[in-house]
Amino acid sequence: MEQKIKLGISSCLLGEKVRYDGGHKLDHYLKDILGRFVEWTPVCPEVECGLSVPREAMRLIGTPDAPRLVTRRTGTDYTGQMQQWARNRMGELEREDLCGFIFKSRSPSSGMQGVKVYTFSGISRTSGVGIFARAYTEHFPLMPVEDDGRLNDPHLRENFIERIFVFKRWKDLVGKKGRTRDLVDFHSDHKFLILSHSPRHYSALGRLVANAKDYRGKSLQSDYLKILMEGLKLLATVKKNTNVLQHMMGYFKKQLQPDEKKEIGAVIEEYHRGLVPIVVPIVLVRHYVRKYNEAYLKRQYFLNPHPAELMLRNHV
Ligand code: SF4
Repeated sequence: MEQKIKLGISSCLLGEKVRYDGGHKLDHYLKDILGRFVEWTPVCPEVECGLSVPREAMRLIGTPDAPRLVTRRTGTDYTGQMQQWARNRMGELEREDLCGFIFKSRSPSSGMQGVKVYTFSGISRTSGVGIFARAYTEHFPLMPVEDDGRLNDPHLRENFIERIFVFKRWKDLVGKKGRTRDLVDFHSDHKFLILSHSPRHYSALGRLVANAKDYRGKSLQSDYLKILMEGLKLLATVKKNTNVLQHMMGYFKKQLQPDEKKEIGAVIEEYHRGLVPIVVPIVLVRHYVRKYNEAYLKRQYFLNPHPAELMLRNHV
């Protein structure tokens, strides 16, 4: 990557000592491994909205849709202060040109899902969203977001990192004025990647691109991005990946020697049976793409969705 991808992140995940107790929640994978490809924009809503370190711990109280942010011991309500700060901060974050955000899980300010919300009688339900995370996801509804807890799952991690790289390429496309021809190329280069998540979304996007001339202004881009990001959120499965790999093999029908065809077919079958991770058939397909100089497949992001150093496909 010539240019690092820009991501927002809850500050405590980078090791900043901003938590209510003066501690941090350093995540080594995010800081040291993903961090090699990322330029971070750290955000600590509680400190940035004016609270001190250390401070009284807080929790959400009330209804899950519109809870209050209240301190645990003295019951001080910081909802208004946090919301006011968040509204102002969104404008600055827009200018940061971020491609995603990683939230600290379970936090009443930063948690993006499953945060405990207490009733006034003290019973908790884990169905809330932190005050800042809610403001952020409402302001940037199509941007990829995740939390540190969910990113421990290799499938969710691979999915999120794939999405941030797609989002970055999308921003680059739109930045280049986003001519219809560029959109057609973008769609074509992402064909197998999108198919590995959702053939239904790929078809819907294809219809949009085919009818591009009927669109006016920016609505084509916004409709395309909405369907794209919705589709990519659906996890790629072994079945969908196997279909994609077999579909790709079709491009080689004429060039591949019988033993080469047999070799690829056998490796795809091993992947299908759960004997090897997806990186194995992908490396083989990439090898034949190079050997036969298969121009269309060379451009497919399915074969190269994110930096190999992250080794994301060794575990899925
Ligand atoms: S979870 Fe959010 S509010 Fe709490 S310390 Fe981390 S960044 Fe700050």
